[in-house]
Amino acid sequence: MAKWGMVFDLRRCIGCNACTVACKQENSLPNGVFFTKTLSEEIGEFPKASRMYIPTICNHCEDAPCERVCPTGATYTRADGIVLVDKEKCIGCGSCIVACPYDQRTRLEPEMLERGLFGNGQLTPFEQQGYERWTAGTAVKCTFCHERVDAGLEPACVVTCPTEARIFGDLDDPESKVRRLIHERHGRQPMPEKNTDPKVFYID
Ligand code: SF4
Ligand code: SF4
Ligand code: SF4
Repeated sequence: MAKWGMVFDLRRCIGCNACTVACKQENSLPNGVFFTKTLSEEIGEFPKASRMYIPTICNHCEDAPCERVCPTGATYTRADGIVLVDKEKCIGCGSCIVACPYDQRTRLEPEMLERGLFGNGQLTPFEQQGYERWTAGTAVKCTFCHERVDAGLEPACVVTCPTEARIFGDLDDPESKVRRLIHERHGRQPMPEKNTDPKVFYID
């Protein structure tokens, strides 16, 4: 059984946000809801200033605080390490949203599913069909595109990234590209002081 993880190569990310768009489309995410965002940071001072781009997603933490605090067992970790939310069990209490140190969870408010892409309350056929997967009042976040992964595909953001700044693979396989990159380029987990053991690593 694989243990899925992702590596972000900060040398390669150009901040184009193609990943964000691909994710929204793949997951039919309503207006204002994002499962992945690219942060940016200015480095140095004029005239030698530059900008660094930092992609972010749910880290599918091995020791996930969101799962620990969930009172109904709606948040769970699959055997392959992907952290998911069972919408049938989610009561929308928001405990997981508060517990996530990475601010990666969103509560789907009813109006999010009603206002539509243009904010005028009219849903396109694409939205009508896509929103059927969502339930108002539940917590949502990145799923590592588990349906694609189960079908032998990579996550939508990974296949879309034009610079291959996102690398997806098996953290338990010593021969995998993710393992090699983490080892050779000293991959760092986000906010290690939170002791959540993320399955996301950054290299630069
Ligand atoms: Fe849970 Fe947040 Fe970790 Fe994702 S990043 S597994 S939502 S604690
Ligand atoms: Fe979005 Fe899928 Fe990438 Fe997660 S893995 S950020 S759900 S496209
Ligand atoms: Fe960075 Fe790739 Fe996302 Fe563009 S698609 S912002 S290069 S991770």
